[in-house]
Amino acid sequence: MPHERDAAPARDQSMTTPTLRDLQPGRLVYIPADAALTSPRPLALIISEATPSKSAPTDVWLNGQVLRPDGSNPLRYNTATVLALLDKLTIAPPGLRQCVATACPNSYDTIAMYAGEPIHPGWRMLQRGILGGTNLCPHHAPTVVTPDGTFHHAPTAMERDTGTITCTCGALLYPRMASKTTPVVRAACVLAYGTHIHDMTPQRTP
Ligand SMILES: [Zn+2]
Ligand SMILES: [Zn+2]
Repeated sequence: MPHERDAAPARDQSMTTPTLRDLQPGRLVYIPADAALTSPRPLALIISEATPSKSAPTDVWLNGQVLRPDGSNPLRYNTATVLALLDKLTIAPPGLRQCVATACPNSYDTIAMYAGEPIHPGWRMLQRGILGGTNLCPHHAPTVVTPDGTFHHAPTAMERDTGTITCTCGALLYPRMASKTTPVVRAACVLAYGTHIHDMTPQRTP
């Protein structure tokens, strides 16, 4: 079932603090701001490996792939190793997909959808292009594409070296990344796009 909320972000209501047993391969883990990383900071990891560190029993080493904020398409991303405090991590329920717009609380559960629940009317997914797979909720989807299929704010190009995205409206979206991030961290590009969608939406519905 879709979850549309108007208060706290979905992450706060749906994410739980994991135990070591929860840190199984394939789970999506959100990394706290003070976690130590060996490569540029991801927004989230999908775990390929997780073990307690030798130094403190509450620390955990995570080794996985950098994801988009919505957790999709993990295979395109870099591997990173993280040392984090277990009680500061949050773990996503399997199958959670979130709207890309910054601070949007809406999400839906793909596992319920695969089990026969229909996708909620009004959700859209960017099917093609550099940010293909990005999800948009019923509130934010009309900002991007009108019902007749006209795209107003879709990513059309991405500069290979900087990740700068060109929107169909002509705006250039600049992901915030470390200065020498190579290759571009796509999660940061998704984040920049989500900020743009957030910024454009009030102008659509005054
Ligand atoms: Zn949204
Ligand atoms: Zn735009």
